[in-house]
Amino acid sequence: MSEALKREYRVSEEIGRGRYGVVSRCHSAVTGHCFAVKSIEKRLIQNDAVDCQCLHNEAKIMQVVTGHTNVLAIFDVYEDDEFVHIVMEYCGDGDLYERITSRSVFSESEALRVMVPLMQAISHCHHNGVAHRDIKPDNILFNNYNELKLADFGSAEFFHNGELMSGIVGTPYYVAPEVVAGRDYNEKVDVWSAGVILYIMLAGIPPFYGESANEIFEAVLRGNLRFPRSVFSSVSSEAKDLLRRMLSKDVLRRFSADQVLRHPWMTSGGDSRLVLA
Ligand code: ADP
Ligand code: MG
Repeated sequence: MSEALKREYRVSEEIGRGRYGVVSRCHSAVTGHCFAVKSIEKRLIQNDAVDCQCLHNEAKIMQVVTGHTNVLAIFDVYEDDEFVHIVMEYCGDGDLYERITSRSVFSESEALRVMVPLMQAISHCHHNGVAHRDIKPDNILFNNYNELKLADFGSAEFFHNGELMSGIVGTPYYVAPEVVAGRDYNEKVDVWSAGVILYIMLAGIPPFYGESANEIFEAVLRGNLRFPRSVFSSVSSEAKDLLRRMLSKDVLRRFSADQVLRHPWMTSGGDSRLVLA
């Protein structure tokens, strides 16, 4: 392990495991404050990467988008022969995946409490020329104050002046149709993925379903958005309208992150019926 990292932090137990390495808890040797350190194994990433630039991509991107309340903050980067170590803020209250699987559906006001900070984080990234490209519940963490933090910039990419991106990235249920189709795409792939998350929170089922990754991709490509009455009968028409705009196959019609933030459902304070009840 990097000597400099060992001097500054006491690294303790593993708290997560990802594609290219492990995430551990650590404490500052000086202040005792708790952080998380993601140790990316160079050997694994270099086998996959087209060029070695990718090795430092995650840390570089985090350095650009850090500073927003809802984006996981980065504090330090260390490198040794085997690893790149990214020291970041610690999130001790689990992720959105656990919250989604531990209950059947969210009320509209509960879903709103996730969507507002999530879309603010995505909008902040897009304004800084960063597309996350892997928005999904496992990458949305909560700190000990229950604040939402967008995490895992391991698939993120810079986009410059409306330039399109390419390359298959993302996770089956959440990936946008233009990515599955192998077309060039823009940052609105993140809005699509956030729309899938909103649908799942409100309905308890994914909008595009299949028994295998290939079947899911086929369903995403068809992009046939339905609101089955069995699960949507009590969902407001504003929420459905927003879902249609986020899950539009036509990228030109699909809302930007800022348009989503201005949509009446997002500014409404949630399900008025629940507030009245
Ligand atoms: P990968 O790119 O491999 O998915 P992530 O950055 O998503 O890596 O980290 C893997 C897992 O580690 C996460 O799903 C989460 O459970 C945990 N984790 C990552 N960062 C933090 C953090 N800052 N605080 C707490 N847990 C974290
Ligand atoms: Mg992840």
